[in-house]
Amino acid sequence: MVAVSSFRWFHRFSLGLLVLFLAAAGPAHAQETKLLRPGQVFDGETAQLHSGWAVLVVGDRIAGVGPESSMDVPRSARRVELPDLTLLPGLIEGHAHLLLHPYDENPWTDQVLLESLAERTARGVVHAEKSLLAGITTLRDLGTEGAAYADVGLKDAIEKGVIPGPRLIVTTKAIVATGSYNPKGAPEWDLPKGAEEADGYDDLVRVTRDQIGRGADWVKIYADYRWGPDGTAQPTFTEEELRTVVEVASSSGRWVVAHATTPEAMRRSVEAGIKTIEHGDGGTREVFRLMAERDVALCPTLGAGEAYAMYRGWRKGVDPDPARVVQKKESFRLALEEEVPICFGGDVGVFDHGDNVWELELMVEYGMPVEDVLMAATSENARILGLDGELGFIREGYLADLIAVAGNPTTDISALREVRFVMKGGVIYED
Ligand SMILES: [Zn+2]
Repeated sequence: MVAVSSFRWFHRFSLGLLVLFLAAAGPAHAQETKLLRPGQVFDGETAQLHSGWAVLVVGDRIAGVGPESSMDVPRSARRVELPDLTLLPGLIEGHAHLLLHPYDENPWTDQVLLESLAERTARGVVHAEKSLLAGITTLRDLGTEGAAYADVGLKDAIEKGVIPGPRLIVTTKAIVATGSYNPKGAPEWDLPKGAEEADGYDDLVRVTRDQIGRGADWVKIYADYRWGPDGTAQPTFTEEELRTVVEVASSSGRWVVAHATTPEAMRRSVEAGIKTIEHGDGGTREVFRLMAERDVALCPTLGAGEAYAMYRGWRKGVDPDPARVVQKKESFRLALEEEVPICFGGDVGVFDHGDNVWELELMVEYGMPVEDVLMAATSENARILGLDGELGFIREGYLADLIAVAGNPTTDISALREVRFVMKGGVIYED
């Protein structure tokens, strides 16, 4: 693979020259017309691949899709040959932490307490590029875990073209109930937490508004956490408290996402009007049925579940599944049976950035049909995250976020690991 990221290329110039170059070439480049000629197209509408289709891109938008003969292609169009490759909408990651790196490299607590904001941000820059080159053109980041508002800064830097990365949906610090979250140490010390504490009506209203004011696109709340006796997961906020956050967020035009693994916290979240539920490990048939009825999506984070087990010594394929993995498989099966909308969201950051497709492979392994998994990664996540007017499909008028992979991802999801081409907003990052 030859990287032709305009970012890297620009780096050969001095900063002064770069500014001149952007000023001169930026608008022209943005308006360039390109004709992509892949082997086949997955358009996000059906699992049916279309052979002999081309995609016309003008500026940052898709101007046409279908047989080349059906399109009005300007003679000046740059032809991008992608023979034998499958072109599909850029992947949409629903649950990531760009400010975290795998816990076998450094435990979560040490990342939160001992790594500087500068180090964590530098890592975030690397993670953003890795994600994009892995085909993730949109990414919802669900909490900086102690790295303040660095997600907002990363998003700004990407939008300004300073660094390459996916389109970001950010949540800043996220909200936890006092006493529930980590790190915890000797009780006489007030350790910095991995999220912002708030309780009761007034405090939750203030903190929700504050996070929104500092750049949160969604509000994330922890509806339960491992603070029960013996470290079991137990609900944190009351239903009324959750409702308060949803009321404030929705008044500003934003949705709320909840971390929840217990049936009771999941139930309270649904009743309070939360849009997506993360993890859902202990979900019961009843609560999944409720989620399906209210169109509340589940981000199952199967990758995180397996990564935690492996960090504790589990050898997949050698040892029997640990209890946590057994439970995850069972609850995921129930969610599928109840037809809960399934979001692609692996909790990447717990495991390697750029390895996002692992979550999709696990979704298939845990029983979800491969075509549905591919939809979850594209058009379904676009719908769940409210982006379906712009992203998730290869459709005329939509943003030109497109990737090409070797192989056929509608029958073998691992083909998504073979990314050969990445385009975001009409700009080619990999060729
Ligand atoms: Zn997470």
